[in-house]
Amino acid sequence: MEHALQHRERVGVQDFVLLEDFRSEAAFIDNLKKRFHENIIYTYIGNVLISVNPYKNLPIYTEEKQKLYYKKAFFEAPPHVFAIADNAYRSLIYEHREQCILISGESGSGKTEASKKVLEYIAARTNHLRHVENVKDKLLQSNPLLEAFGNAKTHRNDNSSRFGKYMDIQFNYEGAPEGGHILNYLLEKSRVVSQMSGERNFHIFYQLLSGGDQELLKHLRLQGTPEVYKYTTDMVTPNSQKMNDAEQFRTVREAMKIIEIAENEQTEMFEIVASVLHLGNVKFVQNDKGYAEILNHDANSGNVAELLKLNTTKLREALTSRTIEARGDVVTTPLDLEQAKYARDALAKALYEKHFRWLVSRVNSALAPKEKDPRASVIGILDIYGFEIFPKNSFEQFCINFCNEKLQQLFIQLTLKSEQEEYLREGIEWEPVEYFNNIIICDLIEERHRGIISILDDECLRPGDATDLSFLEKLSQRLDGHAHYKSHQKVDSRTQKLMGRDEFCLVHYAGDVTYNVNTFIEKNNDLLFRDLQSVMASSGNNIAGDCFKDLNLASKKRPETAITQFKNSLNELIKILSSKEPSYIRCIKPNDFKTPMHFDDKLVSHQVKYLGLMENLRVRRAGFAYRRTYEAFLERYKCLSPDTWPNFRGPAREGVQKLVEAMRYEKEEFRMGNTKIFIRFPKTLFDTEDAYQI
Ligand code: ATP
Ligand code: MG
Repeated sequence: MEHALQHRERVGVQDFVLLEDFRSEAAFIDNLKKRFHENIIYTYIGNVLISVNPYKNLPIYTEEKQKLYYKKAFFEAPPHVFAIADNAYRSLIYEHREQCILISGESGSGKTEASKKVLEYIAARTNHLRHVENVKDKLLQSNPLLEAFGNAKTHRNDNSSRFGKYMDIQFNYEGAPEGGHILNYLLEKSRVVSQMSGERNFHIFYQLLSGGDQELLKHLRLQGTPEVYKYTTDMVTPNSQKMNDAEQFRTVREAMKIIEIAENEQTEMFEIVASVLHLGNVKFVQNDKGYAEILNHDANSGNVAELLKLNTTKLREALTSRTIEARGDVVTTPLDLEQAKYARDALAKALYEKHFRWLVSRVNSALAPKEKDPRASVIGILDIYGFEIFPKNSFEQFCINFCNEKLQQLFIQLTLKSEQEEYLREGIEWEPVEYFNNIIICDLIEERHRGIISILDDECLRPGDATDLSFLEKLSQRLDGHAHYKSHQKVDSRTQKLMGRDEFCLVHYAGDVTYNVNTFIEKNNDLLFRDLQSVMASSGNNIAGDCFKDLNLASKKRPETAITQFKNSLNELIKILSSKEPSYIRCIKPNDFKTPMHFDDKLVSHQVKYLGLMENLRVRRAGFAYRRTYEAFLERYKCLSPDTWPNFRGPAREGVQKLVEAMRYEKEEFRMGNTKIFIRFPKTLFDTEDAYQI
């Protein structure tokens, strides 16, 4: 049999707190790599789970494996996403503390897969309980449905989620799932009208074209392959992919059935999807006056009007002219070619995005528990984009990185605060740990009147000649001297070469990111011409009509800017999460080629940095890495001393006292709290665990 030491040499340590050289990033990465090559993709930092995408199916998600984690403490079974799920479930059901599981990592690192495993585990874990009919199926089937509309093939991930997702699973007093609720964030709607070469539009377009039956396609006036439609031409689809798309389409229809989306509703949904494709093909010609015009025989605009039950002439007018109310006068001006194309694309994006929101709320009404249950409690799962640092970063990265700063802030608050509070509650002396508090960056971005968001909104709302560059100038004036803001003029000559005149740099907790301000104003304003809005609101397609009707056309008040909407929904999310006990899953992508068994040290090192893992480990090591209630500790280890075996008569605390004496724990190694034992050096605990297992 392999000796324990040899074993450790081969597969590394299962908890980073056990690393002797816990300050060394090289040792950290080495440990991950060793395990990865042994097909061990999970490792802990205390109660944080690190997961490395294996890019192959491992036999670790079977029913037997699931059973291994029923009612187990972390160190009693190998690290696993099931352990996180089981712990969350038990804390919720037996200790009545609401839970959330926060999953982060860059694109392709395995966040969505991890979130599905959590859901599957919970579904299996609650099998013995009396069921609320169908609810688990609905929860599980909401995934393929939302993925069809919200995921796409990108360079980094063949099934990349192009939206952030927070999902609550609701449990009844018996611990059985009885419903759920989904919040969605920032769908990447620019993908509807253009994609980088080699990437695709959202899956549903291809699925519908390959998998829709003749009758449906005829009704939708769709003919031929994705190459025919401008919004889906960017990538030639190989036949194997088409088969897969067709099969996926059947899965989506099945999911729709389970979610109880009626046939006529489904048809209306596909009418919207098809309309987007037709809209992309609408052509404009230049008339003698130099303005855009749609020819009378243009079939594409006709198809859109037909499918969405709109007045064709009105639609064409709205696509080629713009009505502005200025001081009580209504003026209609024709659009030039560029403007008309812009309006068309803006409509396609708005239609797709609003439809996606509608779908989420439709899924939510299917997931809502039949009756209001005052004793219900929830586990939330957050699957949201990790920190993004690209060669070129724009408005979208700014939003995403802001979101990550907020989540990091939450992490700091929840972990450190709860840590501190627990020590206090348990009557143990707290030794404060030094750490970087990123609140200063959150403030830099969102502080009222002074932060970047305020400056951007002011510029967007300012009548007149606001441009991306005037925004940048204001930023540089107002934020001059801030430790986390670098303006183009102020940086040293070396960095200046790397930064353009239209760029600014933020020093994020995860590192420096240079943002290009180009299109910030436009994306933040996110305006759809009023004419298009009112035409759409008149749609006889119920879903499309509803999507646009809720915009209060009569109101003179401007809608909130994109970033302010995002900020508000983010703060709402933070509020929800703050009231729960968190677990963390940090996902890592081992290489850029989507292949198994390839571990790129440099790529992983970047992620370890962005995810703040070294800091995480340092903080964990600085305090007491492990703690358990006296009862649980005694129950597990009572066999290790004749004083406590087979039963200890007396308070559990005294039993544990006997145990640590028998185990010869040094004074420095542990503390006895009011209800729990705290162990400083994880090695102590693992030695105890080893002794127990022998
Ligand atoms: P994005 O931010 O782009 O949505 P993501 O972090 O959600 O990325 P996933 O879609 O979960 O990434 O994973 C990408 C792919 O990696 C999956 O489609 C799957 O092929 C593979 N993968 C991820 N996790 C696992 C796993 N645990 N086992 C096997 N394959 C996995
Ligand atoms: Mg994903």
